[in-house]
Amino acid sequence: MTLTMTALIDQLRTIVGDAHVLTEGDLTAWEQDWRKRVRGKALAVVRPGDTAQVAAVVKACAAAGTAIVAQGGNTGLAVGSTPDASGTQIVLSLQRMNAIRTIDAANLTVTVEAGCILQTLQEQAEKAGFLFPLSLAAEGSCTIGGNLATNAGGTQVVRYGNTRDLCLGLEVVTPQGEIWEGTSGLRKDNTGYDLRDLLIGSEGTLGIITAATMKLYPMPVAQLTAWAALPSLDHAVTLLGLAHKHLGAGLTGFEVMGQFALSLVGKHMPQLRVPFLGDAAAPYCALLEISDNESEDHARARFEALLETAFEDGCVTDAVVAENLTQAHQLWHIRESIPLAQAEEGLNIKHDISIGVSRIPAFVAETDALLQREIPGVRLVNFGHLGDGNLHYNVQAPAEGDAKAFLRDEEERVNTLVYDAVEKFGGSFSAEHGVGELKVHKLEKHKSPVALGMMRAIKRGLDPQNIMNPGRVLRA
Ligand SMILES: Cc1cc2nc3c(=O)[nH]c(=O)nc-3n(C[C@H](O)[C@H](O)[C@H](O)COP(=O)(O)OP(=O)(O)OC[C@H]3O[C@@H](n4cnc5c(N)ncnc54)[C@H](O)[C@@H]3O)c2cc1C
Repeated sequence: MTLTMTALIDQLRTIVGDAHVLTEGDLTAWEQDWRKRVRGKALAVVRPGDTAQVAAVVKACAAAGTAIVAQGGNTGLAVGSTPDASGTQIVLSLQRMNAIRTIDAANLTVTVEAGCILQTLQEQAEKAGFLFPLSLAAEGSCTIGGNLATNAGGTQVVRYGNTRDLCLGLEVVTPQGEIWEGTSGLRKDNTGYDLRDLLIGSEGTLGIITAATMKLYPMPVAQLTAWAALPSLDHAVTLLGLAHKHLGAGLTGFEVMGQFALSLVGKHMPQLRVPFLGDAAAPYCALLEISDNESEDHARARFEALLETAFEDGCVTDAVVAENLTQAHQLWHIRESIPLAQAEEGLNIKHDISIGVSRIPAFVAETDALLQREIPGVRLVNFGHLGDGNLHYNVQAPAEGDAKAFLRDEEERVNTLVYDAVEKFGGSFSAEHGVGELKVHKLEKHKSPVALGMMRAIKRGLDPQNIMNPGRVLRA
């Protein structure tokens, strides 16, 4: 370690306290990414306790020219929250900054520190009689700061939007260690460039989010969940249109799952009872959620009217409606178990893509055929948030053969085939997981030179030293 590094670590210890600068022992939790694809080496893991300490840490690092990797729950899927292998970057963990500062009932807002676990925020909102609608399978570990920095989506985007749509203000520490206090909670504020929206989705490359003011909603009186069997993906799109028409803002979730994805759940989690599993007449299933502010009976009547029309139209061949909350959770659990079942099946190549909803069936038909032609035996695990045009279009190695070799030899080719098809259909190569380190070169390939030029100008302007998560999202 150089003298400058030793001096910096001493300085960081003075700022946050000895116990909160970790340099020894097992730092795997901070140094390895969620999918265990990458392992870095941190100069130190620094855990400030308040915004002033974050600012002082950033100032000290800026003076030493030391790079900072912000980290929340380290559940990100694009390799953005772990340090590189150089041993020269610090991980700035927001874990200790987890307080809910205020709930303003009249303004329907909550102001919360960045390190607050998403599930804790949901629970605290509910205790106060409100809904905080952001919901994703990592909610027990991810933080609101990480959700904002990646503009996370999840299962209720069709009604409430992405994390960006739920945010009214931010408190941020700039790359120079200044504090920008922007948590006013205003719903209207057209005073120049929108710095909040610039920071949301910036993946730790433009500053550290230390707190945020988020929107709250009234708790729905009733929630219903149904599972429908569909003759094709085209019919899923038709059903989605019908659901919008019948339910309006009451439609809060619309997921789609292919039979092969469900068969993996059936195979690796036999204790889960997957409706319509193996039904040849139902190559796809949809999971729908409706929220209602009147009553359970009102919700059920609307849902039944929708399903009746869907049966008449032939876009649904069979359906089950959860009788109670336990059954609803069981249905959601099946959907959320697909990634784990896929992991149990073996190595696979993941794509988190978005395409205009109307073009999804054509994209899938064309890309399925292309991949099967190019790589015989390849297995396609297709599921996702159809309501938002977001598919997790994953490619599982052929059943026979060496999955490791498949990944080594075919990953880049598969990615190119899929992302070129996405571009052809006017879609995005990263719908909700961000760019991180994993997709930097995809950004360079698929974004227009004009867009890239503007992004680089923003990065250079705000972080001229390039100390905020360097190499992520954009290369210098
Ligand atoms: C099982 C599972 C399911 C998931 N499901 C979904 C899903 O449905 N929808 C979805 O969108 N995503 C999903 N994700 C990925 C999702 O992006 C993350 O779970 C979450 O949003 C990241 O939060 P985090 O606190 O873990 O952030 P981290 O992983 O710690 O960080 C992610 C990025 O944000 C930056 N960052 C973190 N905190 C801050 C901060 N305070 N200030 C500035 N930058 C910061 C990091 O530097 C990094 O670039 C899933 C992940 C898993 C493991």
